[in-house]
Amino acid sequence: MPWEGTANIGSRSYRCGYCGNIVASAIGYYKKNSALKVYICPHCERPSYFDKRDQVPGIAPGNEVENLPDHIASLYREARYCVSVSAYTASVLACRKLLMNIAVAQGAQEGYDAGQNQATHAKLNHTTNIPKRRSFKSPDL
Ligand SMILES: [Zn+2]
Repeated sequence: MPWEGTANIGSRSYRCGYCGNIVASAIGYYKKNSALKVYICPHCERPSYFDKRDQVPGIAPGNEVENLPDHIASLYREARYCVSVSAYTASVLACRKLLMNIAVAQGAQEGYDAGQNQATHAKLNHTTNIPKRRSFKSPDL
């Protein structure tokens, strides 16, 4: 379905933040006497907003990876899209979760600390006198 009320706003080449293709479009919307423009991607027909330097949605870094399990592909895509909207902390957390999912898919035990092997873990539990659990009571006021 075509967009309504579009105009020829001058050609611009860009990488679409939705489909990832490098496209050239001259169709979209503009604000008079400003650099604000919205271009319609000729490939996926989704709108991208442009200020002087900024593009929204931004370009997701990296590339699509084929033949991934659905839940891994979805998480990888989410991490890339987080970067495209400057949500870097969310991207790091998604990447961490991605690594945990890959590790479990490759046979790692869930909840297992990869920094310690089981023998070391068992040795520490028998040779140190670490209390199992402490409870603290707040002082009476
Ligand atoms: Zn597109």
